[in-house]
Amino acid sequence: MSEEVHIDGSCGEGGGQILRTSLALAALRGQPLRISKIRAGRSKPGLRRQHLTCARAITELCDGTLQGDALGSSELFLTPGTVKAGDYHFSVGTAGSACLVFQTVLWPLLFAEGNSRVVFEGGTHNAFAPPFDFIERVFLPIVQRMGAKVSLHFERAGFMPAGGGRFVAEIEGGCALSPIEICETKPIVERRATALVANLPGTIAIRELREIRTILGWKNEECLPRVTQDDGGPGNVLLLEVAREDVSEIASVIGVRSLPAEDVAAVGAKAINAHIDADAPVGQCLADQLVIPFALAGGGRFRTSELSEHATTNIDVVKRFCDVEITSKVEPQGCTLAFSSP
Ligand code: ATP
Repeated sequence: MSEEVHIDGSCGEGGGQILRTSLALAALRGQPLRISKIRAGRSKPGLRRQHLTCARAITELCDGTLQGDALGSSELFLTPGTVKAGDYHFSVGTAGSACLVFQTVLWPLLFAEGNSRVVFEGGTHNAFAPPFDFIERVFLPIVQRMGAKVSLHFERAGFMPAGGGRFVAEIEGGCALSPIEICETKPIVERRATALVANLPGTIAIRELREIRTILGWKNEECLPRVTQDDGGPGNVLLLEVAREDVSEIASVIGVRSLPAEDVAAVGAKAINAHIDADAPVGQCLADQLVIPFALAGGGRFRTSELSEHATTNIDVVKRFCDVEITSKVEPQGCTLAFSSP
């Protein structure tokens, strides 16, 4: 059995990503893991429902043992076994982000022997987490380009506080990730604003998209209302997407009762404009999410506007499990992260 890795969950940003990255890589590498001071940097530290789901999901798929898995717990011990591909069903049980659960179990299952089909339930459109659309059209296309064979099938959206979202992932195992480069800012080939409104008046979508046309000058045909009664709601998200030839970005804003539809649109417009003006191909959230696949590929480079603390924390955690050199070069046109095998 490999040596136990001890991760201090209060390091860097002190958030949930430290836990998810550690769990995924400990399972993948077969390394026992002790993680202490979990989410010590957050106002409500310790395990919340989403983190607990990630820990139990990882334990199930690697046939491991887990200690400390209780809500609020600040310490976890995982002794992993061998990762098994297969059929799984991971439900957060609340509106906690199912997309973050997907991003945790993806890595061990990608490298397992055999194929997996995994059902995810919980929130699909949460504040402070990648919305499903971001996973499907921003994050996954890059990982697929690196060699991963994964497809997603969206069934229904889930919003805070009701949850009830659901999607299915088909993950082909035996993957070998290859290094790629995303350093050039290629032309924007498509823009799309989607206002998703679940179990709420459709006028919210109409007002958000009208404001987007006014502020950003996007055309009618680029602005799509998606008003449904079948999703886990009530809920609203505005998604502003710019697709370049080789990478996309989606700025998202979750509508809340205290924020008029026009303000939701203004916040989103500011965020997507900031991304376009930064002129770096990889957005800040995508940058922290690409640290794991680039490290596992043992090579590659990408350019983002600047590294968030979230990204630097993730780099520190990844280096505890992967024998990879990661260097950052800051220039006027952004920060380039380069990965290499020593
Ligand atoms: P906490 O911050 O409460 O500990 P957490 O477990 O939800 O918990 P973080 O550690 O903050 O998570 O990680 C959140 C992840 O979600 C990061 O990878 C971040 O890039 C991503 N993310 C947050 N907001 C967005 C967004 N609007 N679009 C895409 N990705 C996002």
